[in-house]
Formats: sequence, structure tokens, C-alpha cells
Amino acid sequence: MDIRERVRHIIYIFDKTYGDAQCTLKYNKPLELLISTILAAQCTDERVNIVTEKLYKKYISISHFANADLNELEEDIKPTGFFRNKAKNIKETCRILIDKYNGQIPDNMEDLLKLPGVGRKTANLILGDIYGIPGIVVDTHAKRLSNRIGLSNSSDAKKVEFDLMKVVPTENWSKLCHQMVYHGRAVCKARKPDCENCKIIKYCNYGSS
Ligand code: SF4
Repeated sequence: MDIRERVRHIIYIFDKTYGDAQCTLKYNKPLELLISTILAAQCTDERVNIVTEKLYKKYISISHFANADLNELEEDIKPTGFFRNKAKNIKETCRILIDKYNGQIPDNMEDLLKLPGVGRKTANLILGDIYGIPGIVVDTHAKRLSNRIGLSNSSDAKKVEFDLMKVVPTENWSKLCHQMVYHGRAVCKARKPDCENCKIIKYCNYGSS
């Protein structure tokens, strides 16, 4: 079966199974999503959500983060790991947003990538979930599923993103990545995929081989 046809079937099944899939990071405004994605590097979304529940009550605006005491911010985000680097990036990013972007989060990839701590994954998430601009978010789940299903054979996130762009209809880019996270957690787990109970097994190279 042609790869695009397989993708169409997978999208149909995922829409039925994970129709309401959305970002698993909790946020109430664009700034919070940006900060949470910076914190999510090398950390689970669950842990980030626990940390940010308090964090966003303490730092309620972009200037609160930009002017935060570095040591205090480090302590506040410590459980997410790599906290020194993350605290520095959060402060610098918020300072740049105030100085160069009038306190607004950019709506394009080029400017987003200039922010410290922001890579393509974060930029695509912001574009898709905040601005409704299609973007493919390649996290650990999307990468693993794309490899197993046979949509990409690369371990490089950027290459996987571009491979997916070739075979996934643009209107499905943002949603499909959220759905892959759900499927990766529930069925196609990292250690042992539950292929016997997987609804897309017919369309997956790994499961059907
Ligand atoms: S068939 Fe197996 S490897 Fe393929 S997506 Fe399903 S659980 Fe993952």
C-alpha cells in the first residue's frame, strides 16, 4: 500500500480514537505554553505540569520572568532537570520578547528559533497550538512511532519532521503529532509496543512484518 494511503487510514483511525487529542502540557496563555515547552526538554510533561502549577501563580507575566532572581527561578524549576540552563533561557527569552517583540510571542519559525531554549519542536508547537499555523512537532513519541510505522527511518528529529511533511496532509500536521503522543503512551510504548491490540497494525511496518 502506498505510504500516503497508509497515512490516510491511520489519520482516520486516530481521529476516531483520539479525536480530542491536544497538547498534554497545561497552560492558560501563550507565554505559559512557551515556558512549559522550554521546561519540557529532557523532562516528562507530567512533571512539568506539577512544577508549573505553582510557577504560574508566582510569575504571572512576562516581566516577572524577565526580572526574576536567577537563583530563585532555578530553585522553582529544579525538578524539571537542567534547571540552570532552563532558568537562564527563560529569563533571556522573556527579556528578548519584551525588548524586541513588544512582549508578544513571534508567529513565525525564524523569529521563534532566535529565542534561547526554543528549538523546532517548541516553535512548531507554538505555531500550531497558539497561531493555528500547521507545524509538525517531533517529540520522542512522534519520532518512535514514525520510525516503527515506516514514515521515516531517521533518528534525527528535523529529518523526521520533513519526512512527515511529505506524506501527511498539511491540515493534519498539528493534530497528528498530539495523537501520536496519545498512541505512544497508551499502545506503542517505547519498551514494548502492544501490537496485538493496536488499531493501526495493518498500516504499520513494524507491527505487520
Ligand atoms: S503496530 Fe505495534 S509498532 Fe506499530 S504502531 Fe501499533 S503498537 Fe506501534
